[in-house]
Amino acid sequence: MIAVYLLAIVLPALVLLYFGVASFQRQHQALDALLQANQRLSGEKLAAQLERQTGEAAQVLLRGDAEISTRKHPIAEYFFAMDRGRVTWPPVHTPPPASVGELLAAEPAGGRQEYAEQFQQAEIAEIRDGKLEAAVYGYRKASTIAVSEKLRALALQRVTRCLKKLGRASEAQQDLEALGSRYGDQTDLSHRPYSLLAALDLDAPAPEKAALWQEAARGHWPLSAEQLEYFAPLLGGGIDSGGAYSDHLRFARDFEEQFRYQGRLEPNTVYSFAFAANGRQYQTFYSLAERGSDDRLVGFAVNLDWVRAQVAAAGGRLVRKGWTEGREAHSTFPSLFPFWELAIAPGAGNPARGGILFQAGITALVLCLLLMGVVLLIRDLSRDANLNRMSADFVGAVSHELKTPITVIRLYGETLLEDDDFSAAQRREFYQIITRESDRLGQLIEKVLAFSKIDRGEKQYHLRVADMAPVVSRTVETYEPYLKRRGYSLEAQLAPALPHVSFDADAISQALVNLLDNAVKYSGESMSIAVRSYSSGGSAVLEVEDYGIGIPREEQEKVFERFYRACNAVPKGGYGLGLYQVRHTMDAHHGKVELESELRRGSRFRLIFPAAEMEPQT
Ligand code: ADP
Repeated sequence: MIAVYLLAIVLPALVLLYFGVASFQRQHQALDALLQANQRLSGEKLAAQLERQTGEAAQVLLRGDAEISTRKHPIAEYFFAMDRGRVTWPPVHTPPPASVGELLAAEPAGGRQEYAEQFQQAEIAEIRDGKLEAAVYGYRKASTIAVSEKLRALALQRVTRCLKKLGRASEAQQDLEALGSRYGDQTDLSHRPYSLLAALDLDAPAPEKAALWQEAARGHWPLSAEQLEYFAPLLGGGIDSGGAYSDHLRFARDFEEQFRYQGRLEPNTVYSFAFAANGRQYQTFYSLAERGSDDRLVGFAVNLDWVRAQVAAAGGRLVRKGWTEGREAHSTFPSLFPFWELAIAPGAGNPARGGILFQAGITALVLCLLLMGVVLLIRDLSRDANLNRMSADFVGAVSHELKTPITVIRLYGETLLEDDDFSAAQRREFYQIITRESDRLGQLIEKVLAFSKIDRGEKQYHLRVADMAPVVSRTVETYEPYLKRRGYSLEAQLAPALPHVSFDADAISQALVNLLDNAVKYSGESMSIAVRSYSSGGSAVLEVEDYGIGIPREEQEKVFERFYRACNAVPKGGYGLGLYQVRHTMDAHHGKVELESELRRGSRFRLIFPAAEMEPQT
């Protein structure tokens, strides 16, 4: 039977599941294709938008005649100015060496004259006359005259030169140190900073040189690209491992190398130029400078970090061209950024995908519910089957029980009819047997009728509000002789009065008898039983306790079901109806049954009746 049910439900469910999964897969594929197309489309849109944005920014940035070196914008990384094919800013080339005369010309009057004379004399002594001692003296004096630091440093540099020629190395060293520390930021006639020259001349330790290189690469002295390249190996640095300033210079130098004019340039027009050099790629914009000669250009390289951030904000990534990974869709830029592509990952949180996930969730939920239904059905079916079996057992057992007294009654009846020779005592005994057996018969029929009434929902309770104490004592008194006869001792602690509750006297009495019956049946070796009544929190409580076999914990709830008998119940003791009736009675009284039981220790059943609601006084 169960197998048929299973087939009828599980098979269609499996078929449904199969079609569900198949259609889910198809939808998934279609959606994937759609997603990819969508990705590409949104990538292309984004690429075009970025080009437009950078172009517009370039228009604004390259307009106006502000000094190019002062311009700043997040979109622009490296600004530059170019004049007749040579980058003039940032300084790619080193300007020609300055002369002392030029320096003096820039000097305010002050000590200029005095310095000029002193310096010239020293130079004559050094170069023309070869009088190095006198030259040292002269240069040293010049270095103390109140002129610019640059000129004083120059004189000091000459002092060190002469000292070296004289072979007075340690003195030369002292002066070099003074030159480096006091005039470190000044540059000599060839535009070289004294701190670098001094460090190299004194052969400073490597970490010191490396620190100087870092400063140079970050732009501490506005060195030219040529100078940086010259100093890099000497200081142990590399033009490629510098700071922002050296990056800027490297760009400018590469740009100068790669840039080619493409025809005649129009004023007020922005041009773009992309190039790669030394493993780096740049996208630049430039236009004719508004000031200066026709050939002067200003421009900048696009800051790729800025572009990356824009792309990331739109859910994509900027990647090198030809580079692919996973399920990303790639879109190229229409005309700019020839070295890069936009990669858009399959959109997380895409509404369509959300929809499909929702559908899948619903399908799974429906299947789960279906499965749960099947499980419940099977449980119900097996419970029904159990009940049917128990009910059949009951009918069988009752019929059997009915037959026994009837047979006995008929037997003794016939015996009495057929034979007159029995003594009065014998006859009396036979009548007693017939009476006892018909009593048993009556009780049994009573039981069956009571159950069937309850089962068909026809049982009626006649409730009235009163103290149930008298009913309880009467029932216990009636029952006690039966117990005593069977050798049990009954400990009765009955409250003389109980809270008023609403109850049906017959039903209560029957429930109490059922509990006492059970106490006897399941007492095992124990021969004592307790019955109590008391009030608790306004409720009336009846309690029956035995010290017998107890009920396994896992069956304590089930024993109240009809026909249920615990696994340790005596085999020929009953039909599993007594407690069912007790629970039914208590439900009808809006009360409850409590059970405390421990295996081989005994059981305590407690019937709790709620206090009756007081009728309002009229
Ligand atoms: P039964 O006619 O089998 O006694 P009941 O409905 O009265 O039917 O009880 C159901 C089952 O509960 C019993 O078969 C027995 O296993 C268990 N039971 C009831 N009362 C006790 C008790 N006092 N001690 C141990 N087991 C009990």
